[in-house]
Amino acid sequence: MVFTGMIDQYFDYKHGGLEYRSLRFEHEVLDEENYQGNAVVNYTEREVRYTRIIEHKHFEKGTQEKTVITREYSVDWKGRDEPYYSINVAKNNEMYKKYLVEAKGNEVVSCGRLTDYKYYDMHIVIERLINVVREKLS
Ligand SMILES: Cc1cc2nc3c(=O)[nH]c(=O)nc-3n(C[C@H](O)[C@H](O)[C@H](O)COP(=O)(O)OP(=O)(O)OC[C@H]3O[C@@H](n4cnc5c(N)ncnc54)[C@H](O)[C@@H]3O)c2cc1C
Repeated sequence: MVFTGMIDQYFDYKHGGLEYRSLRFEHEVLDEENYQGNAVVNYTEREVRYTRIIEHKHFEKGTQEKTVITREYSVDWKGRDEPYYSINVAKNNEMYKKYLVEAKGNEVVSCGRLTDYKYYDMHIVIERLINVVREKLS
């Protein structure tokens, strides 16, 4: 069995609650064929409140008359939202280490961005899972 959820939740928050960053998505259908010419455009300016705009049709080279865009806003995680990103400041990293000690002696294999409290791209998390399971089975 592989547990892929939040490590602090698994251990019933016995060392405290880790912090996460979440996202709010705002979708819009536009009456135009092409909005930004690309699937993803990032916005890093302080003045712009969203962090990126996704224009979905460009992932599949869509030829529709209209286009759908999604603006992504960074929001504080309040416990009900999806915990998309770990916040790896010293306080949280120290707390995470305590959970890691608990997880080491556990029969259930835990793996992924929420149990490792770390951002992973997909190919990295797949490789990590393969290695974790190989180690467990050897
Ligand atoms: C907005 C965004 C964009 C991204 N874009 C890219 C990209 O372009 N390319 C890329 O390579 N990576 C991207 N990533 C990263 C990619 O999503 C992750 O690498 C990948 O999803 C991590 O896989 P995971 O299994 O660790 O976690 P997840 O995919 O989040 O899977 C964890 C699973 O555990 C389940 N779960 C949680 N708690 C419990 C519980 N208590 N009990 C049972 N189940 C539970 C969840 O429902 C979820 O299904 C992006 C991530 C985000 C947030």
